[in-house]
Parts: sequence; structure tokens; C-alpha cells
Amino acid sequence: MTGMKIYNSLTGKKEKAGRPRPLGTYVCGVTPYDVTHLGHAFTYIFFDVLIRYLKFKNFKITYVQNVTDIDDDIVKRSKRDNVNWKKLGNINLKKYLRDMKTLNNARPDIMPRASENIKEIITIVKALVTKGLAYEGDGNVYFSVDRYKKFGQLSRIPKNKMLAIANQRGNFPDDPNKNDPLDFVLWQAKKEKHEPSWNSPWGYGRPGWHIECSAMSMKHTGKTIDIHGGGSDLIFPHHEAEIAQSENYTGKKFVRLWMHVAMLKYRGEKMSKSKGNLILVSDLLRKYTSNAIRIMLLSNHYRKQWEYKENRLKAASKTDKLFSKAHATLSRGKKNLSFASHRKRFYESLDNDIGTPAAFEALKRLCRTVIRSKGTDIGKAKAFLGEAFNILGLVYRWKR
Ligand SMILES: [Zn+2]
Repeated sequence: MTGMKIYNSLTGKKEKAGRPRPLGTYVCGVTPYDVTHLGHAFTYIFFDVLIRYLKFKNFKITYVQNVTDIDDDIVKRSKRDNVNWKKLGNINLKKYLRDMKTLNNARPDIMPRASENIKEIITIVKALVTKGLAYEGDGNVYFSVDRYKKFGQLSRIPKNKMLAIANQRGNFPDDPNKNDPLDFVLWQAKKEKHEPSWNSPWGYGRPGWHIECSAMSMKHTGKTIDIHGGGSDLIFPHHEAEIAQSENYTGKKFVRLWMHVAMLKYRGEKMSKSKGNLILVSDLLRKYTSNAIRIMLLSNHYRKQWEYKENRLKAASKTDKLFSKAHATLSRGKKNLSFASHRKRFYESLDNDIGTPAAFEALKRLCRTVIRSKGTDIGKAKAFLGEAFNILGLVYRWKR
């Protein structure tokens, strides 16, 4: 079982995963200012399966998923609701972790919080100022986009289109302290009394969003991350900014392989808090099993945008029942069943850029055969199905 390939967003090509070795994996985590929705679940369930599969193939994974517990959204919401920023973050993080656990996502090895890495962040910002790539203005520090010619290498967005997109995603183009409206903030001065702040060479303030991930990834996965992932809405400006800061700070390649999960749509638009078209995992779990939710999400290829509709979840529930029934049939089986071709198809699909939709088709076909033949080789087919369900994070109990 070799030959696994993964699509790299930076090169636009499927690249060989190579031999089993230690892999530092960093996935941008949640900003816990509100509840998590199905779009988040799609991203984090996908990375959960990726990691399960890499481990199955004997890669030694360090899985880091950060918590953006200090940023503009947190500060705004804590002011609006008059609740301490730390408390707000803890409440929502707890809900997120509970949802992920119910969905059977394995907990990442390390979940660093931005607020606990301020010293590391300041060190990088200071170095970027010294190198002349960043500048201070009224207690804020900005990265000078113009000084980095490769800015845009990941998103491949033309320079004249970057500003409009950045503005939709938290950029303040009219900030009078900026040399260029596209320059992004590395450190921002404390403006209001309620704002959390830390002392720095530029006075009291807090880090910008992008620099947090550079500092946390460097601390836990080194100067070069093997696999860096996140939702595709993070490609620009977040990941583009991460590359600019990190590569200029270390002089090394920041990421070997970039992986991005497509956005989930609902009612014709991207599912997002700002649009208000949210489906909450906690609501779905009242009606459907976590297996059904995982099957529905993973029946879509991670790089392809798709639209949520409840009938998809109903179809996934049928698949869940099919798997469960096949499982029970296997436990009672006596006859031998040839399943080699299904197994081959299953692993080939996952080897091809984690093609979960095709992997599910192979499993469904095998399960239908199992049920039709009423009783199969308990040993081998059972072992394979157990292995396959485990890679996909599905839970079925063997009946005695
Ligand atoms: Zn990030």
C-alpha cells in the first residue's frame, strides 16, 4: 500500500505522500466567539479522517489545531454581551469540543491558544521590524506587503483584486497608520478600556490574527510545517499572510503541503455566521446519529463545494443502516466471501487525495454483497470492515 497522493493548494498538483515518517500537521482552529456549525464540522471531520488514514499508513503525526482565542471577533462579542473575553472563549470552546467528541473526532495532540503565546508572537514581530519588513505606526505594527514580492503565491489572486477580498475578511483599508491599504496588522494598539492587552515594545496591545498562527505553528511543528490545513476561505489573506511573515522571519520554506477544505453552502450561499444561514451540529444530533452526519459530510469530496440539504442526511442515514446491518450479518457468518476487489477500491480511493466519496461507494457495494450472501468469512472481511470504519471514524458495535 504505497502511492498515496495529496493535492497541494500551493502547486495545484497532486503530490506523493512518500514513505512513512513523522509529519507535523497544523490546522487552523476555531475562533470561539460563537457556536460551531456544519461547515466547521466538514473541515474538522475531513482532517480527522486524513490523520486517521496517515496514521493507518504508519506516518507519525503531531496534530496541532490552534484556538484563536484573541481576535477582533472575540473582542467585539465580549463588548456586545458584556462578558469577559476569556470566559466567552472558554464557553464556546467547550461546546465545540463537545460537538467534535460526539462526532467522534479524535482530539488533536496539541491545542495551543493564541493568548498563551504572546511572547513568541512579539519575538517574530520585533524581528520583522528589524529586517525592515514591518513598520510601526501609533502603537500598531504592520507587515509591508510591497516588500515581499511573492505575496499572492498561494491564492494566485491578482494584486488589483486582493484589497476587495481582504476588506471582506477583516482588513481595515482606511487605517491612517498604514503605508498601503493592503498591509496587514501584526500588532494592534489597545484602543478601548475593555480590550484585553499585553505589554510590548510598541506599548499595550494585542496580536493580529495571522501572526498568531505563525507563532503557534513554529512552536509546535518547527520552522517548516509538513501539512498545513484549513477552510478554503482562509487561503487569502490569512494563509498568504502566514507565509509572508514566517518565511521572512525564518528564511525557510513555511509549508510543504497546503490542504484546503471547500466551503459548505446552504440556501444558495456559503454557510456563515455573517449570512445567518447556519445549521448547527448540536441541532442535527438530536435527530440523526453521528455516523449519519459523518457519512453525509464525507460523501462529498473535500475540495468540492456542495450544498447542504436535509435529504442528503436522510440518504446518509440509510447508508448508516446498511453498514450496521452488514456488520451484524458478518458477525453471524459462516461462508467465505471474496471482498478483495472492494478493499482494493476502498484504499485506492483514499490514496487518491483522500477520495472519501469513492471509498464509500466501495464499502456500500461490499456491505450489500455481505447482506445478500447472508454470512461470510468472519475473520478477514470483518477485520477489513472494522479497519475501514475506523479510518472513517464510524462506530458500530459487533454483536456476539
Ligand atoms: Zn490560522
